[in-house]
Amino acid sequence: MKNKIVLITGASRGIGSAIMRHFAEAQAKIIATATSEKGIETIQQKTQKEWAVHPVIYQSGTAQNAKDLIAAANAVYDDSIDILINNAGMTRDKLAVRLSEEDWREVLAVNLDGAFYLSSAALRKMIRKSAGRIINISSVVASTGNPGQLNYCASKAGLEGLTRALAREVAARHITVNSIAPGFIHTDMTGQLSAEQQHTLAQQIPMGRIGHPDEIAAVTLFLASDAAAYITGQTIHVNGGLLMGL
Ligand code: NAP
Repeated sequence: MKNKIVLITGASRGIGSAIMRHFAEAQAKIIATATSEKGIETIQQKTQKEWAVHPVIYQSGTAQNAKDLIAAANAVYDDSIDILINNAGMTRDKLAVRLSEEDWREVLAVNLDGAFYLSSAALRKMIRKSAGRIINISSVVASTGNPGQLNYCASKAGLEGLTRALAREVAARHITVNSIAPGFIHTDMTGQLSAEQQHTLAQQIPMGRIGHPDEIAAVTLFLASDAAAYITGQTIHVNGGLLMGL
């Protein structure tokens, strides 16, 4: 991973922050995004002095923001990005009858549209280099569904479909495109659940516990490595056995 240029969206917290640490420790050169100055400060506080981490503000959901981010990222280390990690994501949970058009559109825009726009913008230079990795962070609920998460489940199922279609388009250029589908992982996203809800959730997981962000970051690092050169168009499930047999 030494000197590989890696763009990680949503790196200020949770899974993205763990991914940033794993790649930084592997001596990659990182562009790490957050949505606000506060997020940028968090990234800076988490960055050790021997790491190469450049924080950038980025709001997912529009083609222009994606183009601007890829242009900025390509300029930071004076070379184009080798690895794109579409990790930024959000939820707006409501039952279908209460889910507004805005709730639907915002989650689809941030989780799915943003990944498409960034992939499309990053690919031009990857194709020219005949090398590259795109890793999309999906979710187990893309496969299982989850009440109250129509928008989120649809965005992640869409992301997995995008992964397979894009993988086929660029395979001949030695570019791999894969998804990782985490189960339930300890982050701010699951932190909204009460201790009792977390306990009930853990009981449904064969391994009896909620996962750690490092357990997703380790798989991300593997998919970006040379060892994973023959894996493309896949969704790798990391869920403590919550879902089996796909
Ligand atoms: P998190 O702790 O809530 O962190 C979300 C990250 O995404 C933050 O860095 C946040 O930046 C950024 N972000 C939020 N909205 C954004 C937007 N509109 N534009 C750009 N960036 C935005 O989430 P997490 O649990 O680490 O989740 C990371 C990914 O894993 C997501 O795609 C999520 O769907 C997926 N996932 C999580 C779990 C889980 O159990 N935690 C399970 C399955 C899948 P700021 O700090 O600036 O807000």
